[in-house]
Amino acid sequence: MTLNLFNTLRETSPMPVLFVGHGNPMNAIEENEFTNVWQTVSKNIPEPSAILCISAHWETRGTFVTAMEKPKTIHDFGGFPPKLYDVQYNAPGSPELATHVKSVAKTENIGFDYQWGLDHGCWSVIKHFYPLADAPIVQLSIDYSKPLAYHIELAKELAVLRNKGVLIIGSGNIVHNLGIIDWHNPNGGYDWAIEANEGFKKIILDEDSLKLTRLSTLPKPYQLSVPTPEHYIPLLYALGTKKENENISFFNDKVIMGSLAMTSLIIR
Ligand code: ZN
Repeated sequence: MTLNLFNTLRETSPMPVLFVGHGNPMNAIEENEFTNVWQTVSKNIPEPSAILCISAHWETRGTFVTAMEKPKTIHDFGGFPPKLYDVQYNAPGSPELATHVKSVAKTENIGFDYQWGLDHGCWSVIKHFYPLADAPIVQLSIDYSKPLAYHIELAKELAVLRNKGVLIIGSGNIVHNLGIIDWHNPNGGYDWAIEANEGFKKIILDEDSLKLTRLSTLPKPYQLSVPTPEHYIPLLYALGTKKENENISFFNDKVIMGSLAMTSLIIR
């Protein structure tokens, strides 16, 4: 049964993988230097059969995958202008892809979810990639009870989906400390945030999984960048899917508002 379902998605050369720094929810409806780049993404990669998105904004105990036909647009934020709440991103779901996700994850019993939908970590970004909302999307939740290494290991199992035309997108922020955001510095970062952004890029290019999953052993700039792990973990999902012969390139590589890195990457 599972095998038959899995065969229903066409075999493709590996789809690229993205990690996107999503930043402010207003990026969903703004035109700025970051969203301008987002709007070019879909033009530079093959058309996906479906999208698997791991967003910082869906944390659960246990790992779940959305399995409904029509995921709702979740406005999971407060205090923004009404026009942001008016956004509906009506991409279809894909119970079929949800089944594939469950079947390829060997070490984890992934549960089906029928309540969630698409949170702004996903739709605020993907809306720019695919404005017609024609690519089916499922979300995978982040199990907050697991160590960082768990997410890389799960991502390794999910990587096979790339050969079925599935575009895997992690959406978070590498440097994300909202408690000390500098509203007076919209276009720059604290020294430590810039240092951590540069350092993370080097660790990523070195593919140093040990450093990536043992943040508590790294110097203070890294601690300040990841006060809580939810915006960092989507990065681990993207990196965990990388094949040996592939390259990583960065885009939107910039620290803004003191303590927020929009730094993003594509693996192919
Ligand atoms: Zn966020």
